[in-house]
Amino acid sequence: MNILLLGSGGREHALARKMSQSPQCGQLFIAPGNAGTSQCGTNVDMGVSEFEKIRAFCLENAIDLVVPGSEEALVNGIYDFFAADAALQHIPVMGPSQEGARLEGSKAFAKLFMQRHQIPTAAYREFNADNFEEGVAYLQQHSLPIVLKADGLAAGKGVVITSSHDEAVAEFEQMIRAAKFGDASKTVVIEQFLTGIELSVFVLTDGHSYKVLPEAKDYKRIGEGDKGLNTGGMGAVSPVPFADAAFMKKVEDQVIRPTVAGLSKEGIKYNGFIFFGLINVEGEPFVIEYNCRMGDPETEVVMPRLQNDLLELFTAVTTGKLSEQTIDADPRAAATVMLVSKGYPEAYEKNKAISGIPAPTNDQVVFHAGTKQSGAAIVSNGGRVLAITSLAASLPLALAHSVQTAEQISFEGKTYRRDIGYEFI
Ligand code: ATP
Repeated sequence: MNILLLGSGGREHALARKMSQSPQCGQLFIAPGNAGTSQCGTNVDMGVSEFEKIRAFCLENAIDLVVPGSEEALVNGIYDFFAADAALQHIPVMGPSQEGARLEGSKAFAKLFMQRHQIPTAAYREFNADNFEEGVAYLQQHSLPIVLKADGLAAGKGVVITSSHDEAVAEFEQMIRAAKFGDASKTVVIEQFLTGIELSVFVLTDGHSYKVLPEAKDYKRIGEGDKGLNTGGMGAVSPVPFADAAFMKKVEDQVIRPTVAGLSKEGIKYNGFIFFGLINVEGEPFVIEYNCRMGDPETEVVMPRLQNDLLELFTAVTTGKLSEQTIDADPRAAATVMLVSKGYPEAYEKNKAISGIPAPTNDQVVFHAGTKQSGAAIVSNGGRVLAITSLAASLPLALAHSVQTAEQISFEGKTYRRDIGYEFI
């Protein structure tokens, strides 16, 4: 089977590596890829939303499966683009239709969907320019803290949590009247603040049945102890100790099953990953967000723990035969430590030579995120540079091994957290 994987981060390296290990893997292409993905297949210089180029590439290279790594191509409608083109219809796209991707692309859509299907989530109201004054009055009597969310995609920056009414009103005005996030903040969701510990649950669905993959928890803040600015993610762990059988049963009964059934009932085409961003409020799961793809860095802990043949699972998804599959997870704990560039998530420098990356073993893989090949050297090419994942009998051991390797790898300005998974250690 020939595959085109779209993306260039640590998530895509983890997916590429897992797919390349399948006996079903023919030629694997990654567009645009990074220095790590080129060790698993062939990088192609093509953007993830350049649909016409992707079309030509798929036809020229007899591609049998397209796997979008991030939400971008999905929200832009790559599934529908393939479905509508007679020459491409035989090539399945691992992901939802554009309508299904709205679960991630529009928070107002996701909230209404959850309401229709009685899926537990924070109480909320949505506002836009037409009911702006009503929104201000609503904010002024809202309990603190207040969660404001730009409806659309805002590169992970569209959620603001404030602890004063004045700040909330100012932010609301910025979002709606000053178009702080452009069209993405034309509509704003104002939401009840939930207190609890977060986790990420991933499923694969063929639109009817679903399979739950190993869960994970990621660490978004730049600094140890969850201090400082938000990032794309500084590390992750899997499994998550509090996600025991009883909790996961609640997640399946109250969240996963109603979501998959709701999509099917509403006739929304969805073949792919659903990422449930959950919060555990006193033992009860609530949905904070949906994503229509895997997480990054969560993929870097989930894929190494997944013992299934990923291409067999993908084929089951695209042929509607997922119910025949059983998920096998490595019982070991996985911990990912992300090495980032100095200055990240603000301005940072690129093109720093990287050395000391160890070869993968059964217990450790260094996934590339922002890297590129420059002659014989591998250099940094992004804020998040490398993701070190270790597997061990316990989480503290897995973390210790990742931190040890973090110390051995060198590039100028290397920064990382040593406390990934700290609540569980
Ligand atoms: P991401 O970058 O993960 O895609 P996003 O911009 O789509 O994020 P959300 O995940 O909805 O936004 O929210 C970002 C973060 O804000 C959450 O991970 C969570 O920590 C916090 N958050 C969101 N909603 C709530 C809530 N109702 N109560 C408490 N915290 C919340």
